[in-house]
Amino acid sequence: MAVNQESLDVIAKDRQFLWHAMSPYNEKAPPMVVTGGSGSWITDLQGNRYLDAMSGLWCVNVGYGREELAKAAYDQLLAMAYYPLSQSHLPAIRLAEKLNEWLEDEYVVFFSNSGSDANETAFKIARQYHQQNGEPSRYKFISRYRAYHGSSMGALAATGQAQRKYKYEPLGGGFLHVRPPESYRRPAGMTVEDYHLFCAREIEEMIVWEGEETIAGVIMEPAITGGGIIVPHQIYMDEVQRICRKRNVLLIIDEVICGFGRSGQKFGHFNYNVKPDIVTMAKGLTSGYLPLSATAVRRDIYETFKQSAEYSHLRHVNTFGGTPASCMLALKNLEIMETENLVERSRELGFRLAAALEELLDHPLVGDIRSFGFLLGVEVVADKQTKEPLPLAAVNKIIADCKAKGLIIGKNGDTVAGFNNVLTFSPPLSSTDEDLDFIINTFKQVMKNQ
Ligand code: PMP
Repeated sequence: MAVNQESLDVIAKDRQFLWHAMSPYNEKAPPMVVTGGSGSWITDLQGNRYLDAMSGLWCVNVGYGREELAKAAYDQLLAMAYYPLSQSHLPAIRLAEKLNEWLEDEYVVFFSNSGSDANETAFKIARQYHQQNGEPSRYKFISRYRAYHGSSMGALAATGQAQRKYKYEPLGGGFLHVRPPESYRRPAGMTVEDYHLFCAREIEEMIVWEGEETIAGVIMEPAITGGGIIVPHQIYMDEVQRICRKRNVLLIIDEVICGFGRSGQKFGHFNYNVKPDIVTMAKGLTSGYLPLSATAVRRDIYETFKQSAEYSHLRHVNTFGGTPASCMLALKNLEIMETENLVERSRELGFRLAAALEELLDHPLVGDIRSFGFLLGVEVVADKQTKEPLPLAAVNKIIADCKAKGLIIGKNGDTVAGFNNVLTFSPPLSSTDEDLDFIINTFKQVMKNQ
């Protein structure tokens, strides 16, 4: 659709007043100004429609334009807009109970505003837990290279992507990194199982080298999402669980992206037989309609906070954490997922998307395809033998060609490490069969022309 004067004026004001996240200023490529959304589709200022196969920033799990979500927030805002959770309110109590039901285990929930906040909260709880448990020297956390855990100084320190970090250092202290269990680039001659076991054991080696008595926790996503859809083998997760238990290290599972149906299960870690000590969540909790995140802590860990008067409370608060309207909206969001069976639907759609795109493995640029529920990554390479990543300009061209045909997909990796070559798909779980066909057909057509 043609660019008219009104949209030029809006873009000029955007240029003047708005600082965009993660996006370099580019005179030739103005930002897309999104004005509407319905189901899996968004509309921009010029009236162009796109299928949003990234669900915004991996979050709009129930799709756009859900009136009942707006109404849940509106009704609560009128009834009681705000009270801090140093006291309590009914929406937070109800949502904490509901999350316990979704987690299928005994957890106590602390609410915050964002995924980063949820992880910061987890780090503070873990450190305090060890202090009051008689092991105050446990303060370090181990995470994986390529993983993303947030933008604040602790969560960014946990992040294993150099490109996001080096300009802002020093970050929070005490964060260590190990290699991710990435099958595609594993050493020649090694089986997937052996390599994943090797990667998990690197965590144990690090614990030993650093001194077991200094390690507070291990934080990991069930599958690394932002770092390029890296999905562990069961062997890896079993070994991580064994190591954490043996070494009295808390296992913090970051479900910010993988949670709420994205992985084809309620939570990503349900795909493995692991019992996390702490689970962090955000994004799909409200499908992005309002900010809200949660840190769910195993009840017996919470119980230790009651034992000593001196440490009996967590000295941590977010003004906006768990606002009543966000909690009511989240409850309605979970109700939608339940009534529309979106967790099962995610599994089914993910299976179909992976099966259809795997046909592209014959394509000269497609090195690997990895999926985890309705989350999929296509690793594009310049040379299938050497696995040399496709140059960024060529990766960006694929994304631009998709957009020109009305399909928005993402890209992830780490520019500093030389990997920025994983095309990502994370469509709304409410996508229709027609939406799925559109994604598959459009992407295949685009790849045919590369
Ligand atoms: N953890 C993971 C796995 C994430 O993907 C993100 C955000 N992309 C975060 C944490 C941080 O969430 P937020 O942007 O809401 O702070």
